[in-house]
Amino acid sequence: MSGVSASPACEPTLRVRGVHKTFGDLRALDDVDLEVREGEVVVVIGPSGSGKSTLIRCVHQLETIDAGAIYLDGELLGHERHGATLRPLPQRRVAAQRRRMSMVFQQFNLFPHFTVLRNITEAPVRVHGRSVAEAERDARALLERVGLGDRADNYPRQLSGGQQQRVAICRAVATRPRIVLFDEPTSALDPELVEEVLGVMRGLAADGMTMIVVTHEMAFAREVADRCVFMESGRVVESGPPRELFANPGTARLRSFLARHN
Ligand code: ADP
Ligand code: MG
Repeated sequence: MSGVSASPACEPTLRVRGVHKTFGDLRALDDVDLEVREGEVVVVIGPSGSGKSTLIRCVHQLETIDAGAIYLDGELLGHERHGATLRPLPQRRVAAQRRRMSMVFQQFNLFPHFTVLRNITEAPVRVHGRSVAEAERDARALLERVGLGDRADNYPRQLSGGQQQRVAICRAVATRPRIVLFDEPTSALDPELVEEVLGVMRGLAADGMTMIVVTHEMAFAREVADRCVFMESGRVVESGPPRELFANPGTARLRSFLARHN
């Protein structure tokens, strides 16, 4: 699925090192480290306000960080080094880095005045310079795969929430990103629509897509995650393979979180 060159064998696709982020007096991220290797699925869990969205928004360069560093395929994001100091990159270079990632939001955020097809082809054509014919061919193939092959000419408002989120996932992968960041992609859905979206995400994971998924769907985490990260108060409290982590939580905080979410 990825048309971009892979990282060298030892280099993780994403590396988050000692990241701090404050909003006024509030420490939203407090010395966070995270690595995601090519093809890995990392699920981030934790109570509301623990910094999960802030973490992936910092990765996607929607927030600037106060300290630390984030690397995509070994390339420092948002800054460049001049000797010992870091300087912010010009906006156009940050935009180029951001184009190598995609994000899927809780509220889908489809363009309401574009058809389903145009929602998916817009970025590949306008931002990545692909031909309309190629982008449409790819978009139709993606729609087939998520069971929406007959919906290309519909507008978002004509679709259910689960269908809209499946389109949003097609849009996210149509640019062939190095990593897809999901922020509670099923939290806004009626319960009966959750599974159709998780099914699409399972398929992506099986295809080897590199993903960070913030979710409260513990069964999904258990089945699909290579690694699960538990955050609280802006810190990574524990992480590990989900089966081990859920069977043997090392902290009372994770134990009580799991008791509330299982
Ligand atoms: P989560 O996604 O785990 O629920 P968030 O990352 O959204 O948590 O938020 C972490 C903390 O940072 C919360 O206390 C939240 O209120 C605060 N926060 C997040 N974004 C902002 C912002 N733009 N301005 C001020 N505070 C923020
Ligand atoms: Mg959040």
